[in-house]
Amino acid sequence: MMRRYASDVYRLPDFLASTCKLVRAFSTSYATLTSSSEETIHPENTDSKTNSDSILTDSFGRFHNYLRISLTERCNLRCHYCMPAEGVELTPTSHLLSQEEIIRLGAIFVSSGVTKIRLTGGEPTVRKDLDDICLRLSGLNGVETISMTSNGVVLSKKLPRLKECGLNALNISLDTLVPAKFEFMTRRKGMERVLESIYAAVDIGFDPVKVNCVVMRGINDDEICDFVELTRNKPINVRFIEFMPFDGNVWNFKKLVPYAEMMDKVKQRYKDIRRLRDHPSDTAKNFKIEGHCGKISFITSMTEHFCAGCTRLRLLADGNFKVCLFGTSEVSLREPIRAGVDDLGLKQIIGDAVKRKKAKHAGMFEIAKTANRPMIHIGG
Ligand code: SAM
Ligand code: SF4
Repeated sequence: MMRRYASDVYRLPDFLASTCKLVRAFSTSYATLTSSSEETIHPENTDSKTNSDSILTDSFGRFHNYLRISLTERCNLRCHYCMPAEGVELTPTSHLLSQEEIIRLGAIFVSSGVTKIRLTGGEPTVRKDLDDICLRLSGLNGVETISMTSNGVVLSKKLPRLKECGLNALNISLDTLVPAKFEFMTRRKGMERVLESIYAAVDIGFDPVKVNCVVMRGINDDEICDFVELTRNKPINVRFIEFMPFDGNVWNFKKLVPYAEMMDKVKQRYKDIRRLRDHPSDTAKNFKIEGHCGKISFITSMTEHFCAGCTRLRLLADGNFKVCLFGTSEVSLREPIRAGVDDLGLKQIIGDAVKRKKAKHAGMFEIAKTANRPMIHIGG
């Protein structure tokens, strides 16, 4: 039986009236960017002797060693940018991957070269067998990192056990430091509990604790420097994320705060800031502010995409496999598993899908017009 979330409709505040000028100026610079740099595939992520024949190497030579597994479509928050106001249709439980199926697929990916797994959702902490999944995935031969992205609402008490089970990297999402705004953005209360989880994660030794902050114009763009302050005395890496379009999140260019603009705000306050050397597969542009213990980063998926160095693949909670966050094609791995296909057959399906991966996403304006699933179904 299909279930629906209750619909919680809030209106976003009105946005600045004078955005037309900004749109024109930005379109020009975006066109320049796309024409100059997008076709390049990172040399560090092209055919190497060891990876060129892997099923996880695509037709552009990109080797994918990073798998994101969405553990659930459910969530205890209702963020505007992720969950449509009318809620989402939940996949029937019988069509979601069981723990055994997750581990079997995880093992197939790891034996093909995946070294990093991120658990996401929905909200992964709502899944009761999260500890066991973590423990079993971290025990797979070849896994180096088990990370998780969580909204932090019910995380703090679970952290010690998760760490014991092999969780060794953590992102916690928080978009505002103002409780009333948190309630507006997530349609639920809980900001203090998220902060508590962030500090608990620092105390227990996650280093860095990454804090994901989606920046939206007129909503939280006035808090950028307040977030930078979180990095002053603690090993926190605040990651400012450009607002991305997904089905049902009413994306609109006017709500996007481009990386360049966020950076300007930071530079006005913090003069002594320097760019750090990024890893080729890094989705983030990383910066250090002199005297701060942590760092700040920008995820510029919209204005300066990083498709050329992409190493990411996604397994959704319903068992669909997605090779690009913004791509519309998905292939079911649940169906062949349940039809009795063996590991070799599953590898064939995975490899074929990876080979079909495109060189880059279609650009934000095209993505915004194309049907994709809501983010909560895909997993960030
Ligand atoms: N529930 C967990 C959480 O919120 O951290 C994990 C799932 S959530 C879909 C993963 C990440 O995607 C979060 O950091 C969230 O802020 C980000 N995200 C969701 N929708 C987004 C959007 N439209 N644009 C940019 N980031 C988004
Ligand atoms: Fe839930 Fe995370 Fe989506 Fe917010 S961003 S609705 S916390 S899944």
